[in-house]
Amino acid sequence: MMKSRISPALILFLLSACAPASLAAATPAPTASLAESTRSVDSVPEHTKTALPAPAATNDIYTQNNISLPAPSCENGLTPSQTEGPYYTPDTPERQSLLETGMPGRVVRVVGYVLDANCQPLPNAWLDFWQADANGAYDNNGYTLRGHQFTDPQGRFFLETVIPGEYPGRTPHIHVKVRAAGSSNTLTSQLYFPDAAGNETDFIFSPALLVSMQESENGLLATFNFVITP
Ligand code: FE
Repeated sequence: MMKSRISPALILFLLSACAPASLAAATPAPTASLAESTRSVDSVPEHTKTALPAPAATNDIYTQNNISLPAPSCENGLTPSQTEGPYYTPDTPERQSLLETGMPGRVVRVVGYVLDANCQPLPNAWLDFWQADANGAYDNNGYTLRGHQFTDPQGRFFLETVIPGEYPGRTPHIHVKVRAAGSSNTLTSQLYFPDAAGNETDFIFSPALLVSMQESENGLLATFNFVITP
């Protein structure tokens, strides 16, 4: 008989270990049964379970930053091109974060897709970003706030930077070049931020290049989808 293998003392010990002191005092002790003593781990009360190991870390930068992108949208059509301006430097370092220790400014993550005209994601597309710092100054000697990257297999990019400052005549903007893998057709454009006072007086500004801003517990998130002709 299985019953003879379960010591009553052991059952009492297990029951007292499982029940919170206050509950044990307020409620009558449940009747021990063989079924309870042999139940699977799934039926063990929550507070007696051994903590499960945390999910394995993923290399997906979106998951790491708790960001979920909505499905690609191309409602605004092809992304308009804009002037490169005088401050482009080629051969930038490959990186997704332009942040450096002690850098002033408000951190923002700029995310989105690179898509073709049929709204299909373009993996391995090249993006090169450059911008002024929070005080409106460019680094024209080095690569501060400059960097290129490639979209992931889902056609997504991820840029961590600071909100650029204004400089004379210009509302805050991030310059960008985008090119599909294997293409020689480069889109040069700029991204803008909603609610920047300078948008109204900057004659280069285009509302078609406004990012969508979202404030979350993880910080400031700006979303923009590039739609390009590969
Ligand atoms: Fe500029």
